[in-house]
Amino acid sequence: MPLTAGQRALLEALLTQRLHQLQRQLALHHGDSRVAHAQELLEARDSGREVDMALSDLELRELGDVSLALRRIHGEDYGLCADCGGSIAFDRLRAQPWVLRCVACASAGERRPGRQAHHMSL
Ligand SMILES: [Zn+2]
Repeated sequence: MPLTAGQRALLEALLTQRLHQLQRQLALHHGDSRVAHAQELLEARDSGREVDMALSDLELRELGDVSLALRRIHGEDYGLCADCGGSIAFDRLRAQPWVLRCVACASAGERRPGRQAHHMSL
């Protein structure tokens, strides 16, 4: 079931809110220069589905996921699972609008070894 325009707008608002929250937290913890550096890396990152660059810290990684989702939200594949192509449940998206996989594929991925992203320290 595809997302309605209203659902997309709600998710976009949640993502924007989260993005601003993360930017404030990061600026507080690491200083503005680190945030700017992280955003440069994120902008440079290909907007492909697979997030292949895990940032060293959880907030930065989440910032990356959130900004990637904001770029994808009006695209056709937003809300579709990157692995199986099925729709991701709206409740799941509302809780974590940046998720790329449905529940089944996400839990299968966690069990599968050798899929960890590379770590890159800033
Ligand atoms: Zn799936």
